[in-house]
Amino acid sequence: MAGDKQNPSVVIIGAGMTGIGLVIKLREAGIRDIVMLEKADSIGGTWRENTYPGVACDVPSHAYTYSFEPNPDWSDFFACGAEIHKYFEKVYYKYGVNHDTHLNEAVTSCVYNDDTETWTVKTSKDNTYEADLLFSAAGILHKPAYPDIEGLDSYQGIAMHSARWDHSVDMKGKRIGVIGTGSSAAQLIPELIDTQGTDVTVFQRTAQWIVKTENKPYSDADKDRFREKPSRMQRIRNIALTIFEQGTTALTSDSWWDRQMHKLFAWNARRYLNKEIKDPILRSKLTPDYKFGCKRVVMNSTFYPAIQKSNAHLVTEGIDHIEADGVVTKDGKKHEVDILILATGFDPAAFMRPMEFKGRGGISIDEAWEKKVQAYRSLCIPQFPNFFLMLGPNSPIGNYSVIAMSEIQADWALAIVKHWQSDRLATIEVKPEAVEGWRAMLKSKMSHTVWASGCQSWYLDADGDPLTWPDKWKAWVKMMKEVDLTHFVTGNSKAAQKDEPAKAA
Ligand code: NAP
Repeated sequence: MAGDKQNPSVVIIGAGMTGIGLVIKLREAGIRDIVMLEKADSIGGTWRENTYPGVACDVPSHAYTYSFEPNPDWSDFFACGAEIHKYFEKVYYKYGVNHDTHLNEAVTSCVYNDDTETWTVKTSKDNTYEADLLFSAAGILHKPAYPDIEGLDSYQGIAMHSARWDHSVDMKGKRIGVIGTGSSAAQLIPELIDTQGTDVTVFQRTAQWIVKTENKPYSDADKDRFREKPSRMQRIRNIALTIFEQGTTALTSDSWWDRQMHKLFAWNARRYLNKEIKDPILRSKLTPDYKFGCKRVVMNSTFYPAIQKSNAHLVTEGIDHIEADGVVTKDGKKHEVDILILATGFDPAAFMRPMEFKGRGGISIDEAWEKKVQAYRSLCIPQFPNFFLMLGPNSPIGNYSVIAMSEIQADWALAIVKHWQSDRLATIEVKPEAVEGWRAMLKSKMSHTVWASGCQSWYLDADGDPLTWPDKWKAWVKMMKEVDLTHFVTGNSKAAQKDEPAKAA
């Protein structure tokens, strides 16, 4: 029943790792009236959708777990996608999150009702839910980006996006074209090259900086040791997160020390390239012409060895157009392929779109974001009261653990919910000026980052502003420990802007 602050009804969109963790945290906070809506027939989000060969996580497994659910059974230092998916399923059933989850039920519309101060959520099953609090846990990289290449629609062979892998297609003996060389491509290309009888042509638009990651299996004895002493898992987690933190600090700070660290990371990647790629022509094609870390660094150890094999071809001439039977590059050469893989990434600014999403006064999310996709602290949007956008714009995505991040965001959201429950806030609605301040702060930090050094990347929006967090991880964590209620409207939503600001307790 909506309307009871002490027992609020909550709707969560999406049953991926963020949604599952959120249900657990909401319950811990005493909130029980929860419905999590999932469009697919199973949970797992990105790890359900990305099943391309070789899919794995380049964050060490022990750092890619919920803090409250360490896993002594990880089989490898870097786990594969299927094992990560199983981990989330295990947590999902262990904590009974399934009882709050409706599968095969896509959210089609979310509309805020000014009078009742609740959200009306409609779904593909023609169900309607009233919610006091709405969370989008739909993820950030869930909408595949298809390249705008002339003739793509005319291609007559089998085409698939890396995030929509068709396992019924037998790759053996086929001529395969792969467009893209990002993190997904770097994982799947070696698998295709190693498939019997294939001939693989990789169309690279931009070379990537690659950091070598050595994977190693955990033995049964290792797993026993983790079980005996869980602090061992914690130690690995802490070390991994510290290394990631040093990495992101080197990308976002221009202090003397951090510049030296950046040089060191760049030197390490260049050394790996120089050592691994024997042919100087191939090496020069694979050498990026932008600063290390400007695009998301690829963490991988299989791409360089694979691309040197005799059935692999790296094409850097640039794609001109696609024809029924192949890809024509700008030098006029046609590369005939039976199968075309689009490892072309995602739309990072889609968030909950294209569903109907309307806030106070009927404002649509497209109208609210007409000038800029933005949200205060990544989670709160003016005129969209009682709504939290998990992993929203400017979250510290990139080479870091998304799980660690979503847990922190959930804690921050719940801290605000508590203020709302104790009537310090009538509704949870951020003030527009708070978002302006937030944006100005992000912009001021951006110039210190390597992302502003001139490259095309999904880290930047159409204006070249950051879509990720342009500062150190520690600074973000510190910020997310604080709740400043002066940034929120304190009266009831209709009298919104007139109220005196309240101070956080
Ligand atoms: P991505 O990093 O965005 O890479 C897309 C690739 O497609 C790039 O090489 C891009 O070239 C190319 N491309 C796009 N449009 C093109 C066009 N019209 N013509 C030619 N080439 C085109 O996508 P992704 O590899 O799927 O990775 C996305 C993100 O997912 C990663 O950054 C990472 O955060 C996450 N991810 C993580 C893991 C993990 O292990 N944790 C694994 C996979 C993915 P340009 O570089 O020139 O744009």
